[in-house]
Amino acid sequence: MARDHGESIGRSTGCRRCGRKRGMIRRHGLRLCRQCFRDVAPDIGFKKYS
Ligand SMILES: [Zn+2]
Repeated sequence: MARDHGESIGRSTGCRRCGRKRGMIRRHGLRLCRQCFRDVAPDIGFKKYS
């Protein structure tokens, strides 16, 4: 819910896989960008996100 100010979050706000901050998905504590999410979704038991 934090309006992205970036720094106030503290640590790793980027995708933990590629480090990008665009299109982040932070539900379920995934912390992945959309691309990586789509990549690992089957791996972690999610269906395609769209
Ligand atoms: Zn990523």
